[in-house]
Amino acid sequence: MLNIVLFGPPGAGKGTQSEKLIAKYKLTHLSTGDLFRAHLGQGTDLGQLARKYMDEGRLVPDEVVIGMVDDKIKNTQDSNGFIFDGFPRTVAQARALDLLLEEKNMSISGMIALDVPEEVLKERIRERGETSGRVDDQDEEKIKTRIQVYLDETIPVATYYKGQEKLTKIHGVGAIDEIFANICEVIDSY
Ligand code: AMP
Repeated sequence: MLNIVLFGPPGAGKGTQSEKLIAKYKLTHLSTGDLFRAHLGQGTDLGQLARKYMDEGRLVPDEVVIGMVDDKIKNTQDSNGFIFDGFPRTVAQARALDLLLEEKNMSISGMIALDVPEEVLKERIRERGETSGRVDDQDEEKIKTRIQVYLDETIPVATYYKGQEKLTKIHGVGAIDEIFANICEVIDSY
């Protein structure tokens, strides 16, 4: 089973690369951002709760995120493994994920971190905002907050996986297919 954490700041290309990885390796996509947006669209209580954090570009509290991921893993059968996209975003989430997987005799195969300079990120998010309709993609201050939250709270997650010797960095600027090929090379070495 392959369980991959695809890591990187907002706008790094995690969603784009996830789609290609799912098609190639037949994995289950677990994007916490997508799950929250689905809850928002369906008007659930969870969606209501998440909205105020998401609209401001802040992180939804760990226990809410972890509960949602636990549900998704429990409700997924016959999977070849997961691509975790946008999760874990805090060290507490990373620890919780290790425990959740351990209960099922599973573990993280590796973390692939997409490296993209801040100026490129801001430009990509602004461009995405023109078509995504995402409130958090359209406001300069919110984009800044999200990048700052990433630097303060999410970067330590890479250190966590580095400590487990599971971290590989990939240069995330250039042709999508070239980046994809570099990611596949890492995955094929697991
Ligand atoms: P994303 O689509 O991954 O950029 O996520 C959009 C927003 O959803 C984030 O800015 C957070 O408000 C929330 N979110 C998504 N994933 C997480 C997570 N793992 N932990 C906390 N908040 C999250």
